[in-house]
Amino acid sequence: VGLKKYFSAGSGLWGRRKVFVKAVDGVSFEGRQGETLGLVGESGCGKSTVGMLLSGLHRPEAGRVFYRGQDIMKLDGRERRRMRRNIQVVFQDPQSSLDPRMLIKKAVGFPLEVNRLARGAEVTRRVEAMLAEVGLRPEHMYRYPHEFSGGQRQRINIARALITGPQFVVLDEPTSALDVSVQAQILNLIKDLQRRRGYSYLFISHDLSVIRHVSHRVAVMYLGRIVESAPRRQLFSAPRHPYTRALMAAVPTPDPTRRRPLALLPGDVPSPVHIPPGCRFHPRCSEALDVCRHVEPTEVPVGSDHWVACHLWGGGA
Ligand code: SF4
Ligand code: MG
Repeated sequence: VGLKKYFSAGSGLWGRRKVFVKAVDGVSFEGRQGETLGLVGESGCGKSTVGMLLSGLHRPEAGRVFYRGQDIMKLDGRERRRMRRNIQVVFQDPQSSLDPRMLIKKAVGFPLEVNRLARGAEVTRRVEAMLAEVGLRPEHMYRYPHEFSGGQRQRINIARALITGPQFVVLDEPTSALDVSVQAQILNLIKDLQRRRGYSYLFISHDLSVIRHVSHRVAVMYLGRIVESAPRRQLFSAPRHPYTRALMAAVPTPDPTRRRPLALLPGDVPSPVHIPPGCRFHPRCSEALDVCRHVEPTEVPVGSDHWVACHLWGGGA
């Protein structure tokens, strides 16, 4: 609720003024139990930072994170550690997130050991069971990361994130480094696990077709803010925000000759250091009104559970 995270980008060249990168600039949304909330936007829009705020890897400047009605910033040490186990993250790059010198058994069992959830033979048993759940075999425990393909390594990462039995999992571009065919397998695994175990996911991606495949609800992020959110079907059948529409127009079609690049959006992605006044999308918006240059639009409902922040839809109040 109202999340903000600014990073200091060093001091300004002239004088003492600090330069802040407004990576996340007032973001509110809710995820629902057993569902996937897809968070989509171009790279640099702050999606990953939202994931880190939710998982407690960063503390926000403002705003609060509630988990089952509990404000997670207010928890004390022990409760926070317990909460941490309930919220896990799977990152983008399978290659760099596993220690190359660590046996898979050790890597996947590690969260159990640091959290003192299991010891000795019990760790081995649980690692074996977890690997089976992600489609790997017991003998894989005694191999090193380099002996696996990218897709298998991402299965290992998922096993490591899930072994402590979390309820909420942040998946940050979990398939972006993979080939398309492998990507589909991992996405299906992620969905299967949710069906079997009831996980709630925040699925972060720059790829709308991936988001469409996995999400129950979708939030579209632009330069640190969520500009539109809706149930998946609603968003894809009736996108309202000009940015959402532009993203959809840029999604590759099945016919490769009709493939249109994202560069169709006029203008560069503005830097989060110099966020445009008014609607932050106005320099690239083909439908911008005069008011868009001065007044920041607020979120207004445009349908059942569908919100948009845009003056075209009356978000100027
Ligand atoms: Fe475009 Fe204005 Fe809507 Fe922003 S508020 S998306 S500039 S029409
Ligand atoms: Mg990212």
